[in-house]
Amino acid sequence: MENLQVYKFGGASVKDAAAILNLQKIVQMHQGPLLIVVSAMGKTTNALEEIYDLAYRGEEYRLKLGELEEFHRTVAGALLEAWEVDIVLNEYLDELRQHLRQIQLAPADYDQQYDQVVSYGELLSSRIVAWALGTNWQDSRGLIRTDQTWREARVNWADTEAALWGMLRTKGGPPMAQVPVVTQGFIGQASDGRTTTLGREGSDYTAAILAYCLRAESVTIWKDVPGLLNADPKIFPDTVRYSEISYRETIEMAYYGASVIHPKTLKPLADRGIPLRVKSFLDPEAPGTLIHDCQHPTLAPAYIRKTDQCLLSFSSKDFAFVSEENLEVIFGALAQAKLKINVMQNSAISFSVCTDFSERRVNLLLDLLREQFTLHYNTGLTLFTIKNYTPASLAQLTVGKHLLLEQRTRNTFQFVCTA
Ligand code: ASP
Ligand code: MG
Repeated sequence: MENLQVYKFGGASVKDAAAILNLQKIVQMHQGPLLIVVSAMGKTTNALEEIYDLAYRGEEYRLKLGELEEFHRTVAGALLEAWEVDIVLNEYLDELRQHLRQIQLAPADYDQQYDQVVSYGELLSSRIVAWALGTNWQDSRGLIRTDQTWREARVNWADTEAALWGMLRTKGGPPMAQVPVVTQGFIGQASDGRTTTLGREGSDYTAAILAYCLRAESVTIWKDVPGLLNADPKIFPDTVRYSEISYRETIEMAYYGASVIHPKTLKPLADRGIPLRVKSFLDPEAPGTLIHDCQHPTLAPAYIRKTDQCLLSFSSKDFAFVSEENLEVIFGALAQAKLKINVMQNSAISFSVCTDFSERRVNLLLDLLREQFTLHYNTGLTLFTIKNYTPASLAQLTVGKHLLLEQRTRNTFQFVCTA
């Protein structure tokens, strides 16, 4: 769609009424067709995860749910009339309560039921933002069509594209050409009508899916940092901002765990040559970062830290080599347990992988492999990656740390260490 721009606002940019008013200012500065994708407010998704866990375990969740409800009512109340607040929130809050009641009575498929609950963060926030802006609101679940890989749903591109263009046609032309349209990040719908989610922090990906299917002119991700930085400023002092950077470099950084952009976001944009801007919602006039097709001879080293890692080592019980057949079994089990490999290393009699720690998933893996392998694992570890490392950057980051595993390629240095 000609001139269409997609703006994505993350949790921090809708965390309270003041933030939403700031969002409104940014939107008002824009001219032309605009599609706005919003995340859940602040830490709502974490809170919903907690509430869901309590309900699933049959424990008391109503107190926490009450706090979440109160939080949304307070923010909406600061922006809207009292009667509007009920219209905007009640339907979804009722649905959410109903889901939780059912789950507490009959906990079943954990991941499937998770999606039915955790998706309400975006539904609630998008309703508040759309009403505060006085614009159109669109349920993205009818548009983003996925399979049933709960919590990590895969997009059905053909159906999604058809649904999007169908929506535009039935509404008598693109609604976002008149006034901006607000929709939700993170969520989609399976063919059976149930809600799916695209993976934590998946709202960026939603923006890219929409931009790809609608052939948007560009995507802008509004964040609380001045652009794409070479490290998280909360962890590393002296960060530098990349003023422009290629899709490829950014994909790699996201893959290694740079939390600035969801890793799946870049591919659809690169495929259609749609530029991605990362800008600060605190300083909207500042240049930010432009991610597009470009060349750069040298880039500042990027430092990426992933915490809460687990290092698993498998050895075959008979001290035989870890063979291709064994690896096939191990990879199969990792996939089945939905554990993603962040780093792996093979030695004569053992094979090690570093993954994000999830007790549930690791226990499932142990059950699957216990008979064939001896397994050891350490938790509470940190994985550091330095992309485009230099000897100085490497020395500086490793000093004083206890390294359990390290790996070096021409451009990238990774190590797993305690704490
Ligand atoms: N609200 C979801 C999350 O916190 C998705 C997102 O913010 O991108 O993971
Ligand atoms: Mg977020």
